Amino acid sequence: MENKLLSLARSVGFTNAEIIDGENIVCDRIFREQCAANACGVYGKCWMCPPEIGEIDELIETVRSYPKGLLYQTVSELEDSFDFEGMIEAGKNHGNKSRELNRLLKEEGFENFLHLSKGGCGVCSPCAKATGEPCRFPEEALSSLEGYGINVSATVKSTSMKYINGANTVTYFGIVLFRED
Ligand code: SF4
Repeated sequence: MENKLLSLARSVGFTNAEIIDGENIVCDRIFREQCAANACGVYGKCWMCPPEIGEIDELIETVRSYPKGLLYQTVSELEDSFDFEGMIEAGKNHGNKSRELNRLLKEEGFENFLHLSKGGCGVCSPCAKATGEPCRFPEEALSSLEGYGINVSATVKSTSMKYINGANTVTYFGIVLFRED
């Protein structure tokens, strides 16, 4: 199963992917406070973001209920450190790859997994939450690692991946939490 997951991640084109033990996934409820500070402007405006996704303690408990995860990253080049358009484009590309991986996981018959990607669902703009409608594409929608309280920079330390990958790059992460049953 682990080799299959790694192979799927490679086929989608992520820069790196590794299997990580659940006990090495670092969670911290402070990430809910950071979401609530609303620096991204999406807090309360997306069905896949806090507070709609649930209480942070329950979400962390859910994360901890999975014994393993496929942690993956996309490292993208930027023109310079002020290349905000490049950062947004890189984020969209990463989100598209995450959704492609999600489709493949379902096609391959994987069940009992929780897939989290970069912040903000990003499938629709604006999210249907803005008008109080139900999610338009529940099969495509993904929540974020941080929304579930995962401290990515601390978690990545137990892997060979780096959280920051040098000047003029931007890095996005995702994780497929799974159990082999
Ligand atoms: S798929 Fe669209 S409607 Fe559903 S959570 Fe994502 S952005 Fe919102």
